[in-house]
Amino acid sequence: MSNIPPVDRSKQTLTDGSPVPEDRSHTADRGDGQQKGYVVLSDEERAKGWVKPYRDSYVHDKCGVLTKMGRTLSETYARDPYFYSGTFCCGCGTHFPLDQFKWSDGEPMDPLLQDDSVSAKESPP
Ligand SMILES: [Zn+2]
Repeated sequence: MSNIPPVDRSKQTLTDGSPVPEDRSHTADRGDGQQKGYVVLSDEERAKGWVKPYRDSYVHDKCGVLTKMGRTLSETYARDPYFYSGTFCCGCGTHFPLDQFKWSDGEPMDPLLQDDSVSAKESPP
């Protein structure tokens, strides 16, 4: 059905491509509720193919505020919708489980709530 290779979740970097610190220091609060850095799948791993469309903004059900995120995070969701269990809301200023969010196109962010018939509309070049 699909020739997209399975995800290798051991291939991780931070959003800027730097290695994930062994001491997990990237998880410290940078001052606004967000972490200093977030783990993503590596450039090479994200380039292997996506199972979901590229989407970079989502809405928190509780407050209705739209949050935008960077390209490497967005591509990680497209490559592996199960990679994250929660995300940041810039309205609330903290993190919540994915089941409280919807993508800006209306699909739930929690892959367990998604319709499997919605598949990738585009893939990396
Ligand atoms: Zn919120």
